[in-house]
Amino acid sequence: MTRMPIACICVVLIATLLASAQSQQVQPPAQKTGLATNPQEPVLPYSPSLDLTSMDKSVDPCVDFYQYSCGGWQKKNPIPPDQTSWSVYGKLYQDNLNFLRGILDQAARDKGQRDKVTQEIGDFYAACMDETTIEKRGLTAIKPDLDAIARLKSVHDLAPVVAHLELSIPNTSVIFDAGSIQDPDDSEQQIANFDQGRLGLPDRDYYTNEDPKSKEIRERYVQHVQKIFELLGDSPDAAKKNASTIMRLETSMAQASQTRVERRDPYKLKNKMKMGDLEKIVPAFDWKSYLGEVKTPALDVINVTAPGFFKEVNTLLSGEPLENWKIYLRYRLANGYSPYLSSRFVLENFEFYVKYLRGATEMQPRWKRCVQYTDNYLGEALGQAYVRKVFSPELKQSTLDMVRRIEAAMEIRINQLDWMSPETKAQALTKLHGIRNKIGYPDKWRDYSSVRITRNDFLDDIAHATEFEAHRQINKIGKPVDHSEWGMTPPTVDAYFNPQMNDINFPAGVLQPPLYDVKLDDAPNYGNTGGTIGHELTHGFDDEGSQFDAKGNLKNWWTKEDRQKFEEHTKCVEDQYAQYVVVDDVHINSKLTLGEDVADLGGEILGYMAWKDATKDKNLQPVDGLTPDQRFFIGFAQWDCANTRPEDLRVRAMTDPHSPPRYRINGVVVNMPEFAQAFSCKPGQPMVKDKDKACKVW
Ligand SMILES: [Zn+2]
Repeated sequence: MTRMPIACICVVLIATLLASAQSQQVQPPAQKTGLATNPQEPVLPYSPSLDLTSMDKSVDPCVDFYQYSCGGWQKKNPIPPDQTSWSVYGKLYQDNLNFLRGILDQAARDKGQRDKVTQEIGDFYAACMDETTIEKRGLTAIKPDLDAIARLKSVHDLAPVVAHLELSIPNTSVIFDAGSIQDPDDSEQQIANFDQGRLGLPDRDYYTNEDPKSKEIRERYVQHVQKIFELLGDSPDAAKKNASTIMRLETSMAQASQTRVERRDPYKLKNKMKMGDLEKIVPAFDWKSYLGEVKTPALDVINVTAPGFFKEVNTLLSGEPLENWKIYLRYRLANGYSPYLSSRFVLENFEFYVKYLRGATEMQPRWKRCVQYTDNYLGEALGQAYVRKVFSPELKQSTLDMVRRIEAAMEIRINQLDWMSPETKAQALTKLHGIRNKIGYPDKWRDYSSVRITRNDFLDDIAHATEFEAHRQINKIGKPVDHSEWGMTPPTVDAYFNPQMNDINFPAGVLQPPLYDVKLDDAPNYGNTGGTIGHELTHGFDDEGSQFDAKGNLKNWWTKEDRQKFEEHTKCVEDQYAQYVVVDDVHINSKLTLGEDVADLGGEILGYMAWKDATKDKNLQPVDGLTPDQRFFIGFAQWDCANTRPEDLRVRAMTDPHSPPRYRINGVVVNMPEFAQAFSCKPGQPMVKDKDKACKVW
């Protein structure tokens, strides 16, 4: 699992993932098994990449282009009660879940001849939907692990139990994280990585912040921990005492953990050493037993992401009695499994993590959670079934062609830059030519045949799938990097650039209408998806991406002067976005959003250049009274039509590195003279900047 920064468009936020849109759809009646009685052939609903009904033509495009392009969409798409925002991406994500449900319902039902992949995803989904059996089995699924913890005789004996739990508990750390990463100095090699553990609250700052809200969250969290112990059968008094032990241990670990800001600096994450050095940092842990149980290959060089954290682990292992470690392990086990256990655990998990922390009011229906689990655990099996239905070779070819044209435009732009020196340009071009384009789905599918999946034991399925993934990561150690590997599953509605792999990744899920629409022509598609490809591409060259060279090694290739000039150019963007108001009197924190704002502008300029080149021999005509250039820009704006609650806007202003949708559109077009020309906007109008004031970085 890479810990290096990955830049993505990241528009589907976690709140959308966790909250449901069940009010939108009438669900077919469910049988006892939870599966749909009459699964229909799944169809992904179609909406075009340029939708006239999403526009509001009563608005002057030169006054507020976002309103002109998206006003109709906003009226047609009120925010569902259980969502904090609603957008083109969020809606496509929900449509996709419905579509995947259709695939899974069929896969789960066809008991006759099913191919391997259909059987894997079908049985996993069926087991997840079978709440009756899950309810009946109760805690028996984790009983052997609870017993192993109870049998512990000394702190020294912890290591093999920690190893076993770490391999099988889903989505959590036991004490620390262990896995593999690309060597930051030799991106062709995988090395072992030891990292700080994930805690019960979403970030270490929750344990250290002193504001009233953080204190309230901590109190509420301790109640949650107490509830988990009660569900395990402890008396309320014992559970309360145990909860305060958990809070004390986690707080010590949090204080020794790196902050999110520290972790944005790849040099802070790089601490290569020998295994013997880590043994010296944590002598209180029996590493030999641990490594034997995890079955790691020989470890020549390792990376320890956060050495300070491991020092604290040693202090805790030396100071805390065995009883406290037993309490700690029981909690990690039960809390990690709680989304998958019986309904009382599922409900408590929802109440604290989803409802209280994230504000969703309703739990997602079971099927939605099961679709997401199948995508999480068997994503490249579900992905095969998905791409068979939605991603033809022609679609792969046409989007790949678009990517190549965007890269060609980037090459022209790099050569044209008046602020970059020839030496840095040469390096930039090497990096550009080294980028791998990964489109739709992996060339080589992950083989899950070693994962034991049964229809009647969901918890076991989860444990086996978790172990499979843990071993897959560990087995990479000491081996060359597999460049064909993907970090997102094919149905994902998102895209990313990975600086260590130097690749851009566009899953099939993000290449669907209304984002990429084979039924429409190039103008709206280049405006929308073309701009997104350009956006990802420029991330390879921004303040973060440029710390990695063409091979993905952590090595600066900019001259000092060029870096300074780059910052002078981005300052124009920073100052522009700082003026925008998000909500009430809250302005955009444009230091936080700078990287994304620059990528939005650069991406759209590249999209426009590539579109002009792709259509240079075509005699483009107006459609529906809109010129080709107008359609390019409306296609662009309609990627981000959205409605957002003011509360959510306020939170995002603090945490989201992306600007609000309106400014991701209007903030870009004001800097493009091609836009003013397309809509015959006049100097002085809101969507027109004076020529000498327009920002341009790429
Ligand atoms: Zn981005």
